[in-house]
Amino acid sequence: MIFRPRPEKLELVLLRYLHSRMVFNESQALIFFTIEKGYEGELKCDAWLKGLSDEWLILNDLLFDYHGSLFQIDTLIIAYEKIYLLDVKYFEGDHTIKEDKWFTPTGKPEKNPLHQLERCETLFKQLLNELGYKISVESYLIFINPEFHLYQTTINPAIIFPSQLNRFLKKLKTKPVQLNKRHYDLAQELVDHHIEESPYTRLHKYSYEQLKKGITCANCKTLFLDDTLVCNKCGFVEDVEAAVLRSVKEFAILFPDKLITVDYIYDWCGGLKSKKALRRVLSKYFVLVGKARASHYKES
Ligand SMILES: [Zn+2]
Repeated sequence: MIFRPRPEKLELVLLRYLHSRMVFNESQALIFFTIEKGYEGELKCDAWLKGLSDEWLILNDLLFDYHGSLFQIDTLIIAYEKIYLLDVKYFEGDHTIKEDKWFTPTGKPEKNPLHQLERCETLFKQLLNELGYKISVESYLIFINPEFHLYQTTINPAIIFPSQLNRFLKKLKTKPVQLNKRHYDLAQELVDHHIEESPYTRLHKYSYEQLKKGITCANCKTLFLDDTLVCNKCGFVEDVEAAVLRSVKEFAILFPDKLITVDYIYDWCGGLKSKKALRRVLSKYFVLVGKARASHYKES
């Protein structure tokens, strides 16, 4: 069973919002692409693991701080006699290993994911030990993209290739033994130890002034050109209420310190909808707090 579902990645949500409203430089674009691809891979892994027995406990996206060392785990599977630690990679194309060094399809050096996996496993074992659990840990790098290939000279059993995914799952399925209370306690303790990291501190700086104003299309995320709310790019048509609510949500997530006021939302929506129309939507879904010029809306 899924003990901890994979949460929506706030950092990715923020980047998607920003991407519609500003031009990313090369490094920003690369970060966005990497996070988007990584998340896609994790979702594919979740879908793949759906076939796993209900006897297992699956915990997704955990972040731990072990005495100052941060480490993140994509997926943990708690089985009767061991824990499987999975690091999911959505690499694409032909990658190469030469003397323990990894290279991208274009020949650029890349971080050796096995080193990351080893570090993660070591820290996780120490955490388990500290929590008082004696259970063995087996770690795997899961390459989930069928368009991935790795040229290597030695075989590493910690690497699961796309063509091996089904067999790997079959192997796991042959071993289910009913879990007991201790396994559930461990799962809960791990969830309790998970820390939330603020995505705002990691993101590059952005300011309200720098972002393009307007309402984005719910379907293709480009900005609507006029107040008809018919997308020029994909033809999607949206009703005013849904479009305004989405814009307010975007505004609130991008600028958690700013107050939601009619004036701000009017400006944020690029003046596409009248203040009267905005006030009507805001009053319907939010509560008005404060008086006169200090008044603003809060989620009810
Ligand atoms: Zn569109």
